[in-house]
Amino acid sequence: MKKNYRYLFGPVPSRRLGRSLGVDLIPFKTCTMNCTYCQLGETTCEVNERGDYVPMQDVLAELDAWNKRDGQADHITLAGSGEPTLHRHFGDVFRWVKENTGIPSVLLTNGTLLHSAEVREDAALADKVKVTLSAWDEASFQQIHRPAQGVTFELLVKGERAFRSTYLGELSVEVFIIEGVNSQEASVKKIAEVVRSLNPDRIDINTAVRPPADPSVKAASQGHLQALAELFGPTASVTASFKKQGFEALEISEEALLGLIKRHPATCAQLAADFNYPGDKMFKTLKAMVAAGLLREDKSGGETYFFHRA
Ligand code: SF4
Repeated sequence: MKKNYRYLFGPVPSRRLGRSLGVDLIPFKTCTMNCTYCQLGETTCEVNERGDYVPMQDVLAELDAWNKRDGQADHITLAGSGEPTLHRHFGDVFRWVKENTGIPSVLLTNGTLLHSAEVREDAALADKVKVTLSAWDEASFQQIHRPAQGVTFELLVKGERAFRSTYLGELSVEVFIIEGVNSQEASVKKIAEVVRSLNPDRIDINTAVRPPADPSVKAASQGHLQALAELFGPTASVTASFKKQGFEALEISEEALLGLIKRHPATCAQLAADFNYPGDKMFKTLKAMVAAGLLREDKSGGETYFFHRA
């Protein structure tokens, strides 16, 4: 991507989605929750009200420019710096994608607003939807997700079940495991029971492989995750510690790196793998961006991560 877009980022390589163009409709860390494991840090604007957070005509204009200049992606995904369904008109992106491209669309949502019929109707325009479910009752939900006032476990599950009952596309559920918090077999069995009630097409088991908002959050080991995944049945798989392979080298530009790092702080090795780019060259590029004041670096779990300066 040569142009410096404000609302688009990537395409980001993904094992499940191939090259996915990200669309970000929400100002940084504006969310209905403040998850302890969030890789973007603490939620600075915790809200439960939908609104016109960014001008939709500007987002669609960027999509139009991208489609005319590049137009190459395996998926177009609504995701990024906060909860995308907070934008009152997020469905317009899916309508535009359907009318102007043949590219399948994806919604990554924490699911907290699916209790609203209007949100469900627009979410159903996406070809694939991924929701979150990592708790089994109100207490565990509060502990893990620290939600905005009015956001409850009961509403979350009710909304996700209502969505599944009418949604015909591919629904996946991400279960985020935190060692010592929701990693005990008894807790995971309770989560699995709720997840099964959603009848998802896929279940992704994840853990804190990138620096979490709350430094006390511990990642579960790969072996432990594999064992826990079996409690969810055959549609579950471990997606944490994902190592990319089989992609061609992607074009590298400061804008593309900044766009990705703003939404996904990462190590040099992760970025080199994401872009299929030589590690030493990636390191030099990142160091130059640190020197230019665009990025900062910080240690987490013994590894050096690069963060967007903003
Ligand atoms: S993980 Fe997602 S839902 Fe949780 S605080 Fe971060 S952006 Fe919001």
